[in-house]
Amino acid sequence: MTRRSFPLPSALAIWLLLACLLVSPARAAIDVTQSPGQLNLGPRVHLLEDAERRLSIADLLARDEALSWRPSVQETINFSFSDSAWWLQVELANPGESPLRRLLELAMPLHDYLDAWVVDEAGEVAQAWQTGDRRAFDSRPVAHHTFVLPIQLPPGETRQVILRLDTHDGLFDATPLYLMSDGSFLKKSQRELMAFSLYFGGLLALMIFNLLLYLAIRERSLLHYVVYLGAFFVLMFATRGFAFQYWWPSWPTFNNQMLPLTIGLVAITLAKFSSSYLNLAQHAPRLSRGLLGVAGLCLASALPAMLGHYALVFRVMIPSAILLSSLMLAVAVWRSWLGDRLAQIFLVAWCVLLVGVSLYFLRVAGVLPYNVFTEYAMQAGSGLEFLLLALGLAFKINLLKNEKLTAERATHELQRSQNQRLEAEVAERTRELESANQRLAAMARTDPMTGLLNRRQFQELVDEELQRRRRSGQSLLFAVMDIDTFKAYNDTYGHQAGDTVLVQVAGLLDAHFRRAGDRLFRLGGEEFGLLLEVDTLDEGQHALEAFRQALEDLAIPHEHAKGGVITASFGLVCCNDFQRVPDADRLYREADEAMYTAKERSRNRVVTRAILDET
Ligand code: GH3
Ligand code: MG
Ligand code: MG
Repeated sequence: MTRRSFPLPSALAIWLLLACLLVSPARAAIDVTQSPGQLNLGPRVHLLEDAERRLSIADLLARDEALSWRPSVQETINFSFSDSAWWLQVELANPGESPLRRLLELAMPLHDYLDAWVVDEAGEVAQAWQTGDRRAFDSRPVAHHTFVLPIQLPPGETRQVILRLDTHDGLFDATPLYLMSDGSFLKKSQRELMAFSLYFGGLLALMIFNLLLYLAIRERSLLHYVVYLGAFFVLMFATRGFAFQYWWPSWPTFNNQMLPLTIGLVAITLAKFSSSYLNLAQHAPRLSRGLLGVAGLCLASALPAMLGHYALVFRVMIPSAILLSSLMLAVAVWRSWLGDRLAQIFLVAWCVLLVGVSLYFLRVAGVLPYNVFTEYAMQAGSGLEFLLLALGLAFKINLLKNEKLTAERATHELQRSQNQRLEAEVAERTRELESANQRLAAMARTDPMTGLLNRRQFQELVDEELQRRRRSGQSLLFAVMDIDTFKAYNDTYGHQAGDTVLVQVAGLLDAHFRRAGDRLFRLGGEEFGLLLEVDTLDEGQHALEAFRQALEDLAIPHEHAKGGVITASFGLVCCNDFQRVPDADRLYREADEAMYTAKERSRNRVVTRAILDET
């Protein structure tokens, strides 16, 4: 959007052609009683170019016939770039019987200088105004964002309305001119105000909502969007004349400087927003810098306006704005082509805005007619653009949320698998430790060579067993076994072979005594202890006898033994008198003595001893 229109060669050519061809027709007065509604004066006024800008209203009234007035041929008057002052003339007639008032609206809020006179039939000035965008707001006879002149038409009379349009620096805008009754004006301005209120209210709501959203979730592109919306809001508010009306009515110069400045700001904030929305810093950092550079040029080109040079401003600003728009379009197309959903939404939004802006400019340039649709095309386009961008931002936030969620899930999964691995490792270590402990405990309890319980276990277990039997009164059977002439075996076959015999004998014991209560001990050297789970001395003797025979039958050769094989002697004690046998030591001694008796009786036999409570 620019404050000024483009020079339009084609329109100008047609204008010149018609100006040459047409003979000045008679100036017919407009019967205002015939058109109470809105009348477009554009094609009905007569024009006079004042190239020297020297004419005054007095000159005009005095030399009227001598001046070369030409009829306008444009729907909407547009002088584009022109250093002349332009005079417009139209005659209004009130053939009725009561006085009438008509409002003449110059519907371009940014027009620089507007001088107007109403001249009566006698050639006297009846009403006069001096207003324009470069004069304080209170110079307007009607407080309105465009210029509205109330023209009094006495009954049965004709009035000549003369306007002088001039600019600060030779840049004219399209200048729609309407004539209407008070009623039509009220209707039109109410409709306009409603449309603008909806538009600006919508922008404001979007701004506030997105600002709050930004404060809540701290996504940078939301902030850029809000700032872009803000700049666009100010630009639109200023171009429609509302900023001058409501914000700075006494500062016309500032109002004119603000316009190019806000265009530059819109360019910068748009470039910044686009680059963060499309993630260009990541996808195409140089392009992102390029966009900002062109937008910066736009902003810089607004600086001469601070010194009052507007023509220069728009000669630089228009090309850079076109370059920026094309660049953005290209970026959006490129990213969309790559399947970036955010860019696709952006592209649609950007196209909608461009269509709106194009329609507006085609209307300003006179290519399209001046109607409600073309008048509000920019508002509609930008409004839709902002809504689409808000949708895009929502989409972007959703994408970010999903990315975050995926990352969180991955982290969680990693943690879980690490925990699992750790737990498995701990469980493995615990198992190893437990089995090591078990092995250690077993080692503490057993004799490493034979695997039988050791001497310490003998003490503990037999003491416990004695306690238990003391309570139950049951007899306890315990035997000591000693291998016969084992020293000689060692001497003959070697210590190593002796060890092997010890292991063999232990194995045989283990295989033989398999009852749950049977306990086998290696008490030292070639001496073993047997705690037997039997109830009577007979049973015990029988079991030992069977073992003794089994050992003999194993037939481990021993040349110095009586039978030529390894044998053993046994002392078996059956005890239920726990007064006489209070502990393991005593029990052992009793059994050992019995075993020695067996040795004395030429070995390889079982000698029993009963220690019974006679009472
Ligand atoms: P007896 O029939 O009277 O019991 O005669 P013996 O030779 O078996 O008795 P003695 O007490 O004189 O000798 C026991 C021998 O047992 C002495 C030692 O060489 C042997 N011995 C003790 N412990 C071990 C051992 O762990 N390994 C081996 N190979 N020999 C052992
Ligand atoms: Mg011995
Ligand atoms: Mg021995």
